[in-house]
Amino acid sequence: MIGVSVSASLAYIPDWRADETLYSWVAGFHATYGNGSTTDTAQLLFGARHACKERDAPNDLDHFVKTTRGELGDVRSVLLTRTPIGLFTPFLPAPRQQVLADRIRGNDGTGWRLLCGMPASCLGDPFALHYCEACVVEDVNTWGWPRWRLPHQLVGAWICLDHGCVLRTLRSTAWQWHLPPIEPSGPGAPPLDQAQANGLRRMATLALNLIGTEPLDIGSIRQAVLVGLRDHGVTSWTHPLDASQLATWFAQSPIAAWMRSSSGPWQRLTTGTWVHDLLRNRVGDHPLKWMLLWSTLFAHEDEVASHRRFINPGSAPHWDASGQGTIWGTSSASVPPDIQRVITEAVTLKDAAKSLGMH
Ligand SMILES: [Zn+2]
Repeated sequence: MIGVSVSASLAYIPDWRADETLYSWVAGFHATYGNGSTTDTAQLLFGARHACKERDAPNDLDHFVKTTRGELGDVRSVLLTRTPIGLFTPFLPAPRQQVLADRIRGNDGTGWRLLCGMPASCLGDPFALHYCEACVVEDVNTWGWPRWRLPHQLVGAWICLDHGCVLRTLRSTAWQWHLPPIEPSGPGAPPLDQAQANGLRRMATLALNLIGTEPLDIGSIRQAVLVGLRDHGVTSWTHPLDASQLATWFAQSPIAAWMRSSSGPWQRLTTGTWVHDLLRNRVGDHPLKWMLLWSTLFAHEDEVASHRRFINPGSAPHWDASGQGTIWGTSSASVPPDIQRVITEAVTLKDAAKSLGMH
């Protein structure tokens, strides 16, 4: 047991090392100022001896903020901009956003991962940490020891945006404050072809852009995808949601091909059979699915505009072939006349959807 009370603060508080995660900061602190005991460092910083088991974000961030005298940010900023949780929160529906806001104000014991539904998805590996060997070399030169960069820990981020290489994984079930290995770990993944590199770069960039953004308008994103699928000829007006067509289309994409060749819990998405359910469901789903769908469908659009449209639909109109700016793509003039009639004559949108077989 160490002699530290809840209100104790540190004599010296190292600053963040650029875009490192909270876990990285603690691992660096532990290596430099800790006394070697994983649990003592956890107790000191988070008031809980097993805090290192919560690699994404330890439960008692309030304790951490008090111990660091707020010099590294408040609970909200640490959670949303220093942990992978910051990618999940924009996808939470309104009621969960409220639960999150309440949880940030006071610790009721709920884990952050649970609050965001992360364990239920089975699409993340809680034992995995990701790093780039080229970054490690630079970090050792700059700071003397490596760090875990936030952009590398995000779901859907499989490459380093600075070096273009596929990220390495340290998978450890030992609950310790790990730092990335300094020694090179042998040959990496086979080189990417251009389409795969483009797809993975768009995914990693989108993941990074989503950190700490306002809640997303999933309904508008879904609508944009439905129109985009039609514009690209993946689906048709008469069969807007054909499950096997959607699955085949996604399974043939460069990102799916790369996912098949890699190893990780995301591999089960490569068949594309989830696309149909994602578009039909009225409730949200895992961020990775929306990001994959968007990055695949709009792979040939300007990347900045495409990501802006995902995050803030009203801010970036889509320009169609005739130069007409519309928010979601094809203007109504291109709707076949018989379908236009169904839409205009239907009493409600629900009726129109039913007539069109979209229910
Ligand atoms: Zn790198």
